[in-house]
Amino acid sequence: MSDKIIETDALIVGAGPVGLFQVFELGLLGVKAHVLDTMPVVGGQCAELYPDKPIYDIPGIVECSGEELVANLMLQIKPFEPTFHLGEEVTEVKAIDDDWFDIRTDDDTQFRTRTVFIAGGVGSFQPRRLRFEGIAEFEESSLFYRVRNPEKFAGKRIVILGGGDSALDWTLALAPKADRLTLIHRRDEYRGAPATVDSMLRLAEAGQVEPIIGKVSGYKSDGDGITAITVNVGETEREVACDAVIVFYGLAPKLGPIAEWGLDINRKTINVDTERFETSTPGIYAVGDINHYPGKKKLILSGFHEAALAAFAAKERLDPSRKARLQYTTTSPLMHERLGIKDD
Ligand code: FAD
Repeated sequence: MSDKIIETDALIVGAGPVGLFQVFELGLLGVKAHVLDTMPVVGGQCAELYPDKPIYDIPGIVECSGEELVANLMLQIKPFEPTFHLGEEVTEVKAIDDDWFDIRTDDDTQFRTRTVFIAGGVGSFQPRRLRFEGIAEFEESSLFYRVRNPEKFAGKRIVILGGGDSALDWTLALAPKADRLTLIHRRDEYRGAPATVDSMLRLAEAGQVEPIIGKVSGYKSDGDGITAITVNVGETEREVACDAVIVFYGLAPKLGPIAEWGLDINRKTINVDTERFETSTPGIYAVGDINHYPGKKKLILSGFHEAALAAFAAKERLDPSRKARLQYTTTSPLMHERLGIKDD
């Protein structure tokens, strides 16, 4: 086995609320985990789709926002020291023998793990892409869906597409570096935070940003890159010359590579049993929104329950000679030790 391969007992695909709680349930049973997510931040739908919205049906918590729930889950799993690999999509899951799985990511990271927990929710969040013919070939050269290194855009003529928080935030961040920045949005109303919209309009007044309200109709290229974006403004078509186009049309979840892993799939979900939350492949469990069984409800609390039972099932697989005993966190010295709590 090469040095580059990371070996672990448990690997969790997805750092949404259920993937995070899976770390906790495994940790209580003495199993450490690696966690991967396509997104650069943890929290899944709670972080991406409703960070500020209140949730009212987490048992014992009267009200908390998506962001608060994720922050608390991160605190709760801290004692178990999970290793996070964020911004990496798991592309391949393959059994190598009865005991080990080979996992690969789009960043060429390779793992060898004894159990896999798919907590992929509604799939990995992918940016909504521009659909013009041939434009995909310019991705990462003159067409971008995220900004990894802002310095790369210094001195360039930039076109940003979109009218939400990401489009506005990056407009503010890149305007001082750009040779010229044009923000194209289809409506005369921006979906970003009011303070950010105001800052953008102030930059526009100062001539540092040109906002255009219109519908993008196509692009021009010289074969090496995009040279202009065409946009319909009322009845006229305008051509905006550029060196780089950055698109922020939001994120859409896609089941993506999970569909290719040879598991028993039910439309866009994975069939599991309700005792072990195991998939059709022994040693691979599926928890949270991604799984399917009779009566399934896509709720965070259902995912938490599933994570607990999947952890017990995995523990038995990892250590078949000993039955995993249920112990209360209130009274068990072993649980306290694992949680890092000092008993008097
Ligand atoms: P997700 O939160 O979807 O997280 C899955 C993660 O897996 C994502 O981050 C994704 O990027 C990652 N992933 C997927 N595929 C891969 C891959 N191949 N490689 C790497 N990473 C991958 N539920 C409630 O219980 N109460 C509520 O009040 C409530 N309100 C909601 C409000 C809104 C607006 C929405 C949209 C949902 C709400 N829900 C609510 C549902 C709740 O958010 C979901 O049930 C919950 O997020 C499921 O958690 P999860 O961890 O299974 O999946």
